[in-house]
Order: sequence, then C-alpha cells, then structure tokens
Amino acid sequence: MHEPDSKFMLRNCLRKHKNDSAENLYDLLVVEGKIAELAPAGALTPPREAAVYDAGGRQLFPSFIDAHVHLRDPGFEYKEDMQSGLCAAVHGGFGAVMAMANTNPVNDKGAVTGFIREKAARICPRGPRVYPVGALSVGLMGEELAPMGELAEAGAVAISNDGRPVQNNELFRRAVEYAASFGLKVIDHCEDADIAHNWQINEGGGSLHTGLKGQPSVGEAVQVARDILFAEYLNLPIHLAHISCRQSTDLIRWAKVRGVPVTAETCPHYLLLDDAKLHSYNTNFKVSPPLRTSADVAALVQAVQDGTIDILVTDHAPHAAYEKDTPFDESPRGFIGLETAVPLTSALFSAELLEELWCKKPAEIFKLPRNNFAPGDPADFFLFDLETPWVVNRDNIHSKSLNSPWLGQTMQGKIVAHWLGGTQIFSCEDSLCLPKPL
Ligand SMILES: [Zn+2]
Repeated sequence: MHEPDSKFMLRNCLRKHKNDSAENLYDLLVVEGKIAELAPAGALTPPREAAVYDAGGRQLFPSFIDAHVHLRDPGFEYKEDMQSGLCAAVHGGFGAVMAMANTNPVNDKGAVTGFIREKAARICPRGPRVYPVGALSVGLMGEELAPMGELAEAGAVAISNDGRPVQNNELFRRAVEYAASFGLKVIDHCEDADIAHNWQINEGGGSLHTGLKGQPSVGEAVQVARDILFAEYLNLPIHLAHISCRQSTDLIRWAKVRGVPVTAETCPHYLLLDDAKLHSYNTNFKVSPPLRTSADVAALVQAVQDGTIDILVTDHAPHAAYEKDTPFDESPRGFIGLETAVPLTSALFSAELLEELWCKKPAEIFKLPRNNFAPGDPADFFLFDLETPWVVNRDNIHSKSLNSPWLGQTMQGKIVAHWLGGTQIFSCEDSLCLPKPL
C-alpha cells in the first residue's frame, strides 16, 4: 500500500461523459483524497508537485458498491474473513460492501455491528468500507424482532433476514414499520419457506431431468407480491433481494407504475446462467434462489435494462471446498461473486448503465457516500482494462473460497488498479503505481 499522494493526475482515462455520444479520454486530478477535476485529456495542466500516471486508455469507473455480501466474519472465517473478503472486493472494483447478518453470532445486536465495523476499519483502514446490515429478527429465527434502534445506533445501514425468509406476515409488517422509524430499509429475501421445503433446483425441466427436488419460481413471486402489497399499504420502502424470475419482474414493474416504494436487485448469475447448467449435478451451480429457465434470464436482462430492477449485487457467498465437494443435496447454496461481477456485467450493459447499477443507485437507495467525479467527491475509483483476459482459479481469486460457477473459465476484462480516498490500494502494473513526473 502506498501513502496517499497529496496531489496526482491520472491521464488518458476512458469515460463516457454526460452528454457525449462517444467515449472519450479524460484526465483526472486528485488533491488530498478528493476529486479536484475531471476534464477532457490535455485540458488540465498538472500542478508542479503532482505525480502523473498514464491510465493508457483504460476505462475509469467510480468505486462500485455491493449492497449484498456475505463476509462470513465473525464465525465462519474458514469460508472468508474480513481480510480476504475485502481483498476480493477491492480487486473486484468495490470500494464499499454491505455485509449480511447471517454470521455467528448473528448480527442482531449493536455489539456485533460494532465488532464488524471496528474489525473492517482496523484491517483495511483505507477501505473498502463495510456497512453492516442488521438482522430483522433475533437469531434470524423469524420469531422476535431484533433491536433495530440499537443496530442503527451501532451503524447498521439496513435490516434483513437474508438467508432465511420471513414467513410470518404480521412480524414482517412490524419489521418494516419498526425499521422505518429508525430510517432503515428492510431488504427482503423473498421465498415462501413452505413451498418446496428443502428444494435443490428450479422446478421444471431441470428438476425433471435431474430428479432433484424443485422449487417453482412462484415460491419467490408469492413473497414479492406480499412485499409489494405491504409497501403500498404502509407507504414504506422495501428492497427486494436477489430477484431470480420473470413473475417477480412482472410484479415489480406493475408496482412501480402504481408508485409503490419498492426497489429491487438481481445478481450477475441470474442474468447469465440457466438451470440447464445443473444437468451435470455440479454443486458450484447450486445457489439460493436457484438458477431459473432461459426465459427467466431473458426477462431479468430486460428488467435491468428498463429500470424495473434498480441495482446489481453479487450475493457473494463463500463456502469451503469440503462443503461444496459433497452429494448435491448436502451442498450449501451460494456463489462467490465479488471478483467476477464487473467483467461479467460489462459484457451485458453499457459503461453508463453499469455505473448506475453498481454505484449511483445503491448509494441512493441506502444513503451511502459515492464518487460522482464532481469536485470534492471522495477519490474512490478504479481502472478497468477490457482487453485483458484472466482465468477464474486459485492464482487469480483473492477470496478464501473458490465456489464459482465460472471456475476454470476465462473472464474478459480486468481491474488493474484501485484507489480509495486518493490512496492506491493495489495496482497490477508498476507504471500505474510509481509516481512518474512528466
Ligand atoms: Zn444473501
């Protein structure tokens, strides 16, 4: 890690600027950890004492925000810990992550929220920042509301029972009201726990082919509908986690037309993979909610493009090799995703839309700081090299776990350097990390 250069300029960064139709090269000036100016290449004269780096035409992005991550710390450090999880985040382009509450102990107390924040700040003082998500119910058991005032005071930025759906509608309604009284949103894991209990795969062609127990997509959509009805009735916001199917997108689209205050997320894997992948019984394709059909994949891509789905998240869910290397029905659900998200989604969406989905909108929904490259914004940004391929394997992944559906495959595009608060956290190239006065 380098000490922050008090002033530096990054030349020749590729960006699509507000009203330009074409992508253009820009120069970025950073002063004391903040953005000073972003201007067309050649328009700025660097201050005399400023170091100058050449971005070589790489794409410049503000640091992304991942609003749905399982850091596994405290309690499951054999899967991931604060150090490895944040290392994976910053190499994946993320300057901030929201950490879900299903740790051990569960984050249902201010002391656990405080522990997570303190550990993150101690291990990675310059970032990535960690924003804890407090539990909705004590122990995530869905029976008694967690002390949300205490969680808010300790720094929780949202409330969620993620990993375990809330079946009790009365409790859920009270949770939304209680969270709102502290200015917090509920992030809901939408899944009816009674529909296809202990499911393994999407119900349909995949379950028929494999003989594994299927969960119909209506198992998700029925709770999406419930949440929409509550959000409208209470006129309080609810954020819908990891949407996976067409019925859910239809419901959310309908809700937004009516002005219901719901927002929604999906993950790169639901935009790229369908349940045919599970014909191999490869446990690295087992995730919650399950991969759906190719028609669901197409509906989700459309829903992201038309704004029905507001943001992208990874739902980074590390599991150890020995846990995944088991019979299919014993394997835990979930994928790692922090380091593959940007290359995967850059192949689907424009740079402008990526910035909305991974930075601008998550910051808006959860009221988090972000870099908009305006003077005074935090100098949090990374360079993405679309030309560089890399393979998803132990040598290239910083997460402790390797449970990726893309294991062994080639990603197109690599994050080559990342700065947070004007400090370079890592660089793959000497030319980008050694001050080179011109
Ligand atoms: Zn999750």
